[in-house]
Amino acid sequence: MYDIKAHLNEIRQSLPQGVRLVAVSKFHPEEDVLAAYEEGQRIFGESHEQELARKVKTLPADIEWHFIGHLQTNKVKYIAPFISMIEAVDSLKLLREIEKQAAKAERVVRVLLELHIAEEATKYGLTLDDCRQLLADGEWRQMKHVQICGLMMMASNIDDDAQISQEFQTAADFYHEVKQAYFADDPHFCERSWGMSDDYLLAVNHESTMVRVGTAIFGPRKY
Ligand SMILES: *Cc1c(COP(=O)(O)O)cnc(C)c1O
Repeated sequence: MYDIKAHLNEIRQSLPQGVRLVAVSKFHPEEDVLAAYEEGQRIFGESHEQELARKVKTLPADIEWHFIGHLQTNKVKYIAPFISMIEAVDSLKLLREIEKQAAKAERVVRVLLELHIAEEATKYGLTLDDCRQLLADGEWRQMKHVQICGLMMMASNIDDDAQISQEFQTAADFYHEVKQAYFADDPHFCERSWGMSDDYLLAVNHESTMVRVGTAIFGPRKY
């Protein structure tokens, strides 16, 4: 049997203090989530709304669920009542819908803005200029039920550490730019979510505060 607990603990031990681990449990059954939970893991990441809704019903209530995938606006209402963080906000339209649904649920939902830095054309996310524009526009300041907590990104899915490191560093530099310009007095804006199974050790060298690791904990996904 694949030893989830051993892999989880190995990864934890390799992370510097202050870097949080999001255990990405998409396409893994509830019993795998529980195995990690029993080791004290509390933050889990999912990227499909229906799968998440199913797991939330049966798994312990003190799990902090992060939505890490591309979120369609028409799905926000399903997760707004319980989601701990929506990591991949890539448009003002989505941000507005989160505000609306979080208000209905009488909650404040924490979000990250997703950057598109990788070379792949298929990846979602805001270009750095889109992100600058969204923040300069200022509508987000009126949103009382959304808390922008930082940035998220995925590096290119390639076998080139130098390129991947450069992408993480671009994200880290951009974080400091917007922190200074918009969030200097806001301690909530502090998260840098980058690093996955293949590149989380590079990511923590480039100021990641949150790594999203699936395969390296749970093994290959069971589609
Ligand atoms: C699936 C996924 C991960 C985890 O990927 P692994 O390579 O299995 O660690 C991380 N981030 C996002 C956004 C994902 O969709």
